[in-house]
Amino acid sequence: MGVWQKEIISVILLLLVVVIVGAMTGHLILMIFLLMLGIIIRLTTQINRFEKWISTGGRSKYPKAKGIWEEIYYHVYRLKKQDKNRKKKLSKMIDQFRQSTEALPDAAIVLGVNDEIDWANKAAREVFGLHKSDIGQRIPNLIRFPDFIRYLKSGNYKDSVILPSPINSRITLEVRVIPYGAGLRLLLAQDITQLKKMERMRKDFVANVSHELRTPLTVLKGYLETLQDMDDEQSPLLTNSFKQMQGQTERMQHLVDDLLLLTRLETQQKKTQCVDVPALLNQICSEIEALESATKRIELTLETAAHIVGEEQELRSAFTNLLGNALKYSNPNTLVKLRWHQEQGSVVLTIEDEGEGISKSDIPRITERFYRVETKRITKVTGTGLGLAIVKHVLMRHDAHLDITSELGKGSCFSCSFPDKRICN
Ligand code: ADP
Repeated sequence: MGVWQKEIISVILLLLVVVIVGAMTGHLILMIFLLMLGIIIRLTTQINRFEKWISTGGRSKYPKAKGIWEEIYYHVYRLKKQDKNRKKKLSKMIDQFRQSTEALPDAAIVLGVNDEIDWANKAAREVFGLHKSDIGQRIPNLIRFPDFIRYLKSGNYKDSVILPSPINSRITLEVRVIPYGAGLRLLLAQDITQLKKMERMRKDFVANVSHELRTPLTVLKGYLETLQDMDDEQSPLLTNSFKQMQGQTERMQHLVDDLLLLTRLETQQKKTQCVDVPALLNQICSEIEALESATKRIELTLETAAHIVGEEQELRSAFTNLLGNALKYSNPNTLVKLRWHQEQGSVVLTIEDEGEGISKSDIPRITERFYRVETKRITKVTGTGLGLAIVKHVLMRHDAHLDITSELGKGSCFSCSFPDKRICN
C-alpha cells in the first residue's frame, strides 16, 4: 500500500472514530473541531521542522518523521545529495581543465565582450607579463602594439598576427583569436622565435649560396663561349658537349637568378610607385614576341587604362613569367590572350592560353617552389619550377591574388586581381 493511501485511510478512520464518539456523547461538532485542530497543529509542527531543516541547507540527516513526511524528507534529501555530487563532479572537471590549460605550453587568455581579460593561463602570464591583478583589465591597455590592437578591433580573425613579447623583444609570438560563445574570445599565443630563426637561416642560406654561385657561373659561361668560338666543329662529340654545357649553365643561371629574386621579394622593403600597367604590358608583349619569336601569338586587350600602386620591376617579373608559361606550355600555333580590365572592386589581368592545361590535383601545388608537373610532352620544356612562386610572392606584396582555372587539353587561365584601392590614376 502506498504512503498516500495509508495517510488517507488513517484520516478516514480517525474521522469515523470521532463521528461515532461524537454521536454517542452528543458533542459531534466539538469533536470534529478538535480533530481538525489536531490535524492543523500536527501539519504546522511538521512544516516548521521541515522549514528549519531546509533553511540549514538540508545537509544534515533529516529529522525522524512518519508517513508522507518521511517520504517528503527522503525525496528532498536525495535530490540535495544528487545536486551535491553533480557540483562536486563539475568543480573537479573545472579544476582538471584549469590544470591542463595551466600546463599548456601556449599562452591562452579568455577575453570578455569588452576585450577584458576573464582568465589567463601560466604561459600567458609569463609571456605577456600579466599578473593575477590584471584579470578584468582591458587587454589593449596591457598589450599596446598597434598591429595587435588593429587585429583585435578588426573582428576578422582568419589570420594571425606576429608580435614581439611585451616583456622580451627577442621572443616572437604568433597570436590568434578564436571567437566562441556569446561575444567571448579565446586568445592563443605561440612562441615562434625558433621557427622564425630557422626561416631566417634558410633565407640567408639560399641568398648566400645563390650569390656565391653567380661568379663561378659567369666565369664558366665566359670560358664556354670562348671554347665554342674556337670550336672548328671537327669533332661532333665536342660540339655537342659544348652545346649541352651551354644549355645546363643557362639553366643554372636562370635558377640562381630566380632564387635571388625570390630572396629579394622575401626580404626587401616594398618600394612603391604608380605603375602604368597598360604601357608595361605593351612593353612585355613586344619584348617576348621578339625574344621567343612568338609573333602573332599574343593578343593584348586593354579595357582599362588603370595604373596601380606597386613596384614596376616586380610586376614585370610576375607578368613575364605568366606570359612566358602560357607560350611555353601551349602549341606554337595557338593564341595567348591578355586582358587588363576592371571588375567590381578589383582590376584584373587575365592570361588565357589554349595549351596543355593543368590537372585539378596539380593546380594547388604549382605555385610551390620547384614544383613542376610531370607530363609526357613530346618536346622537353625547360624551367626552374620557381616562376609561379615568384608570381605568388609579387602578388602578395601587392595585396593581389592569383586565380587559376584550367582544363586538361583545353588550356588555362591565370587571373591576377588587384584591389581597386591600388588604382592610382
Ligand atoms: P617552370 O615553368 O619553370 O617549370 P613555374 O613555377 O612557372 O615553373 O610553373 C610550375 C609548373 O606549372 C610548370 O612546370 C607547368 O607544369 C605548370 N604550368 C605553369 N603555367 C602553365 C600553363 N600556362 N599551362 C600549363 N601548365 C602550366
